Amino acid sequence: MVVGFGGRATETETSVPFPNLAFISTTRKYMAEIAHLMRPEIADLEAYTPIVPLDVLAARLGLPIEQLIKLDANENPYGPAPQALAALAGEPHYAIYPDPESGQLRQRLAEYTGQPTARVVCGAGADELIDLLLRIFIAPGDMVIDCPPTFGMYAFDTGVCGGRVLTVPRRADFSLDLAGIEAAAERGAKLLFLTSPNNPTGNLTPLDEIERLLKLPLLVVVDEAYIEFAAHAGAPSVGAWVGRYANLAVLRTFSKWAGLAGLRVGYGLLPELVAEQVWKIKQPYNVNLAAQAAAIASLDNRAYLIQNVARIVAERERLFAALQTIDYLHPYPSQANFVLCRVLRGEAATIKNELARQGILVRYYRTSLLHDCLRISVGRPEQNAALLCALQEMV
Ligand SMILES: *Cc1c(COP(=O)(O)O)cnc(C)c1O
Repeated sequence: MVVGFGGRATETETSVPFPNLAFISTTRKYMAEIAHLMRPEIADLEAYTPIVPLDVLAARLGLPIEQLIKLDANENPYGPAPQALAALAGEPHYAIYPDPESGQLRQRLAEYTGQPTARVVCGAGADELIDLLLRIFIAPGDMVIDCPPTFGMYAFDTGVCGGRVLTVPRRADFSLDLAGIEAAAERGAKLLFLTSPNNPTGNLTPLDEIERLLKLPLLVVVDEAYIEFAAHAGAPSVGAWVGRYANLAVLRTFSKWAGLAGLRVGYGLLPELVAEQVWKIKQPYNVNLAAQAAAIASLDNRAYLIQNVARIVAERERLFAALQTIDYLHPYPSQANFVLCRVLRGEAATIKNELARQGILVRYYRTSLLHDCLRISVGRPEQNAALLCALQEMV
């Protein structure tokens, strides 16, 4: 409660009500004058650990950037389509603000997804759409269902809105605890995030489970950031279901399959009523001109990009089989562009650090569910070979 701190925050050393801001009262007393004005749910948030930029990391390791093998963020090892790079270089209107409605891109996405443009909304990455959806539905105290281990942004953005996360952990095989989710929904949760294929576990959510969860009185957000890597193997998306269910939203991105992570462009397939609210609250120029041009060129050159997706999928299967032969690792089957491994002997953190020393970056999690796991993004064949070689030498 902020009551009792009003206007007098500098009176004592302990008057700042938020533990994370305690330093303010001792080091910069005058700032405590405004600490009590802040939203308590923001001031109480844990500080975010930013990713170390590649050049800084290379300098730290004493290696040239080109020598780093970056398998820690599920980026596309083949990069953007050449036509996307050409579109970026050839775009004549960078001095002009971009189309706030991303009209051309949404038109192409409508053709690509089979949904009407009214249900397509673009964002600065799928991340922005997660944030916008939460802002539409979640006021302080409202509840969101999260099913870890999964993508961290759902819980993070819920915290920014002052919402409460109802955690329904996945089972040992990473399938959803459907009864647990239904019980959480009964407590009045407004949103449920499902990731399919899931990050970082790589498994798909079966369609009949999504269908069952769509009966709940909440918005079901299915994050299909990696669907192209599963669709390649014939797994169907639920994109076509948007509109048929009033409470289904689907998120997609150009970051992974199209190699545009650095440009920040994603999209949502949303029921019209939800899409209308996004239009009211989004920043007008959220998707920049470069991102729109590159995304359109990517859709126009899908055949090229899907070839790379096929390469990544084939390489994923080879990597998975090779990881199975390393006796201190247990890799989980994946439908995405990464493989999660449990470390059966030794410390996952130690392995991660040892790989990093050799310029090979993989993802390590400090969370209780994943502290003994590593997530390895699928790289180019020679990158995966180098990783496997380093892992085999570590006994
Ligand atoms: C990478 C990722 C995203 C983020 O996509 P952007 O478009 O880059 O913001 C969203 N969801 C999941 C599950 C992801 O892994």
